[in-house]
Amino acid sequence: MPRTPNLDSDQREAVDVLASAERVLLASHVRPDGDGIGSEAALARVLAKLGKEVLILNPDPPSERFDFFTEGLTFGVFQGGEVPAHDVSVLLDISELSRCGDLGESIGRAGSRKMVVDHHIHPGDEWWDHAFVDVTASATGLLVYRIARSLGVELDRLAATAIFASIVSDTGWFKYSNTDAETLEATADLVRCGVQPFEVYRLLHQREVPEQPAWIASLLARTEYHAEGRLALIALPKSEVDVGERVDSDFVLDVLRSVETIEVVVFVRELVDGNCKVSLRSKTDFDVNAIARQFGGGGHRKASGATIPKPLEVARQLLVDATLADLGATATSEESSA
Ligand code: AMP
Ligand code: MN
Ligand code: MN
Repeated sequence: MPRTPNLDSDQREAVDVLASAERVLLASHVRPDGDGIGSEAALARVLAKLGKEVLILNPDPPSERFDFFTEGLTFGVFQGGEVPAHDVSVLLDISELSRCGDLGESIGRAGSRKMVVDHHIHPGDEWWDHAFVDVTASATGLLVYRIARSLGVELDRLAATAIFASIVSDTGWFKYSNTDAETLEATADLVRCGVQPFEVYRLLHQREVPEQPAWIASLLARTEYHAEGRLALIALPKSEVDVGERVDSDFVLDVLRSVETIEVVVFVRELVDGNCKVSLRSKTDFDVNAIARQFGGGGHRKASGATIPKPLEVARQLLVDATLADLGATATSEESSA
């Protein structure tokens, strides 16, 4: 059994609040990813073991690809109105209520204490009552791991698998610069709790339909290079929205990063509602969070996102201009398509 994590006073207080809560609401961000769903699933199982009543409520449903660790849990999708009565609301993998859509407003109105368990850069005021926040943590799932260990709860195979899925989701299977010793030590412990990494890999990434490789090829064929190959960008129109929904964008962004000269990669896709969803990744010290913030988004220095309420061509040009400006490159640099 690994040692109990060292917590600061805010984190200690957050753990104490969870230990004494009776009815806890867990929520994550819109279009929840592996870290959001994994940390919710793990914390739900840990709190249930302590006899708490736990309600998970999100703006959107989890992807079916997470079914192997969400089994037996109910992931409610907010339908408007008021959230059920509870004493503590815990926001996981998110520190801005606005990232929960209408659910955020409803949680804000509820008479519960608000807690944030998160690793994102938070630019504004600290609006919450309790925080278990560490922007250096590789994944929110790692924070749930610290919470579980501090509460002295044994992780069963499913809870451990949910944390493992969070961590691999946000570290790109330990490739990104956020992978540190604590992450690897926690992961070894999760394996001792019954996680089979190869099996998680298969379940997360090797259950695609036969069309998947062709979809990936069609996306990659749209690659544009800017600033002498320092920026790669894919812009996907609304007509291809299904492809954008079904391909794992992190996979595509990884392929773009494989080019030696690349510093920044951008994937912008038009959604059915006319908004553009953008994902930005940096391979160097380049701060993509600063770009995402210009468009009302956020995230981390090396992985950020935003939703831009503009047509695709406008959003694409704004992103190119903003990125070239921060790269210190000019728009007259050669552009080329793959
Ligand atoms: P994504 O590109 O959607 O995988 O997101 C990369 C990172 O940026 C994740 O940590 C997200 O939580 C964060 N992020 C994505 N979109 C937004 C947004 N609209 N506002 C704030 N953070 C975002
Ligand atoms: Mn997330
Ligand atoms: Mn995360």
